[in-house]
Amino acid sequence: MGRRKKIVQQCERLMDQPEHIRNIAIAAHVDHGKTTLTDNLLAGAGMISDETAGEQLAMDTEEDEQERGITIDAANVSMTHEYEDQDHLVNLIDTPGHVDFGGDVTRAMRAVDGALVVVDAVEGAMPQTETVVRQALREGVKPALFINKVDRLISELQEGPEEMQKRLLGVINEVNELIRGMTDEMDDIDDWTVSVEDGTVGFGSALYKWGVSMPSMQRTGMDFGDIMDLERNDNRQELHERTPLSDVVLDMVCEHFPDPIEAQPRRIPRIWRGDDESEIATQMREVDPDGDVVLMVTDIGVDPHAGEIAAGRVFSGTIEKGQDLHVSGTAGTNRVQSVGIYMGGEREEVEHVPAGNIAAVTGLKDAIAGSTVSSAEMTPFESIEHISEPVITKS
Ligand code: GDP
Repeated sequence: MGRRKKIVQQCERLMDQPEHIRNIAIAAHVDHGKTTLTDNLLAGAGMISDETAGEQLAMDTEEDEQERGITIDAANVSMTHEYEDQDHLVNLIDTPGHVDFGGDVTRAMRAVDGALVVVDAVEGAMPQTETVVRQALREGVKPALFINKVDRLISELQEGPEEMQKRLLGVINEVNELIRGMTDEMDDIDDWTVSVEDGTVGFGSALYKWGVSMPSMQRTGMDFGDIMDLERNDNRQELHERTPLSDVVLDMVCEHFPDPIEAQPRRIPRIWRGDDESEIATQMREVDPDGDVVLMVTDIGVDPHAGEIAAGRVFSGTIEKGQDLHVSGTAGTNRVQSVGIYMGGEREEVEHVPAGNIAAVTGLKDAIAGSTVSSAEMTPFESIEHISEPVITKS
């Protein structure tokens, strides 16, 4: 069996275990390294080639041969990651990196429960960092921080340990100020600030594929001094092998981001103004796979063969081929032609997609991004607010 097929099967198995699902977005100011980081995660999960890891070169089927060279443009992608002896399904939604796409960023946030905010160590928090943090918090999405391009501090700017620590703490403080400024008034959100000590901050280099966090240092036995020595001496391959970025980030995702069962009870009242005593509210809060189908469409894509594909978060029920579903704001119903999940840029058809997952659905001809699609007529989700760029001046 090809590697891809195995990954699809693994994903399908995990789709029915919401406690092992993490729906996440990676969000960043343009050029801070979101794309490079995403590629690392896909390579770490074995979905694209990592010339340096060597692992995939050992794979044996024709299918793998063909896949080795591809670079995935990850709009939506599912991957698996083993954390503490348990496989997890990580559904990653890409967010457009450009300021003009603010609306799309918010839509992506609607589908996820955790947002990894990537900040360039040299530039620090920038206007779009503030925008994405604001969008995440408004949607009840928990943030974590990855400070990227740390290689530049070491090798290019030749910073010493103290200088570097000061700079990194400065970035963490900037981000925490943003978080605090937005969550202080939100009584459904606990302290969501990030910190090195609790493992919600990672550092590293997406370009050279190494990463570090407090838990990773404990696991690998490598401290920051070891890392600085290896980076400074150009031993980046060794650094990548001993403390791979994808492990550091995906461990952080599995440990610190909420699963749908934890997230939905908090998120539903924020994003849906229907009757919270109703059966559908209970089904959504409980991520009930046997409940009425509720899908929030976050993106419409076009497949040359299958036509329009509606991608979104299943909050309740289980989506299957042949279902007749209501689309908010339109009369009548649309029949589901196929359901699938995303693997890289490609859609893989599966039998069904239950609550808590990201689904790719064909046949919903009346749906647009933002539609609520459901088996019973219901109050639609709140319309997604477009948040424009704040103007901040950096000192
Ligand atoms: P995006 O716009 O956030 O998706 O950023 P990209 O991933 O496209 O990266 C922008 C630029 O920064 C590219 O030239 C990358 O090679 C470079 N880059 C990304 N990560 C790192 C890093 O960790 N270190 C260094 N030195 N450059 C990086």
